[in-house]
Amino acid sequence: MGLFSRTRPTPLDGVDLVLADLDGVVYAGDGAIPHAVENLTRAAAGRPLAYITNNASRRDSVVARHLTELGLPTRPDEVVTSPQAAVRLLRDRVPAGATILVVGGDGLEFELLKAGFVVTRSATDAPAAVVQGFAPEVGWAQLAEAAYALAVPEDEGGIPWIATNTDWTIPQARGIAPGNGTLVSAVHTAVGRLATVAGKPERPIFDEAVARFGAQRPLFIGDRLDTDIAGAQAAGIDSAVVLTGIDRPKHILAAPTVSRPTFILGDLRELHEPYPETTYKGDVTTVGGASVAVDGPDVRIVSEGDRPIDLVRAGAAAIWRTGRAIYGFRVPERLYADPFHRR
Ligand SMILES: [Mg+2]
Repeated sequence: MGLFSRTRPTPLDGVDLVLADLDGVVYAGDGAIPHAVENLTRAAAGRPLAYITNNASRRDSVVARHLTELGLPTRPDEVVTSPQAAVRLLRDRVPAGATILVVGGDGLEFELLKAGFVVTRSATDAPAAVVQGFAPEVGWAQLAEAAYALAVPEDEGGIPWIATNTDWTIPQARGIAPGNGTLVSAVHTAVGRLATVAGKPERPIFDEAVARFGAQRPLFIGDRLDTDIAGAQAAGIDSAVVLTGIDRPKHILAAPTVSRPTFILGDLRELHEPYPETTYKGDVTTVGGASVAVDGPDVRIVSEGDRPIDLVRAGAAAIWRTGRAIYGFRVPERLYADPFHRR
């Protein structure tokens, strides 16, 4: 295996644009995640590197400054935000220069003004659309304006409603707080309409990133299967999940078809390492030194190997290959042991 493995491609081979999620991939709270800065820097030596964020409250230039301070020199146009994806959707739905009702903060208002739209905070100004994104100052008064503006269903001549993202939660220094999804949900409950979503896991934010860089073979790196990996897959982009953020090995093993990554990484050093081949022999699935067998409802470790990440890769491939849901299996705890770094 030794000699052969050196000839295997790395996850970056042939990739012409690296797109990275931020929280759980680049940083956690205030600090950079171990190995992230040096290995993203190395990845950027061969191709453009850009960042995708659902957070609608910060401008691209603010995110770029934060990344630069962490040691990743970044220009504002290397940051793709959900307000930018919302503008992309808006351009298809309303005339240039239209008046837009904004529910949100500076990051969202800034992008709408930059795109030539007129911003209002009142439903009485006859807005052509409502765009809603998270900001800490969003409260009942703003949500009520959205509800007034969205009273008529879209198929009865009502105006479009675009949400930057529908993340249920937003991590804060003091804990987990309600995210934009809960605020969108409040308006939804009041008006009985559904918003069109611009950010992950929907396509527009990925389309915006790929179009901006004219990429043919992008790779997206994220820490969440349900937003990052599902979104990349929906957009037809190869993806790597990295175990430095939210999702853990047990989530990888249980991933439904729509959110299975191309690559599974313990941390970002593995971007530059040959990615081992997955081989199948009878009921046994092997990755590197790790082998896992599936016998009816039993998942069995045949060989643990010496690299925990290869055991996760082999276990995932073995379970995914069956086409059966995780609930039907007895999985040994060793298979989802979690020696990987997380926040
Ligand atoms: Mg993340």
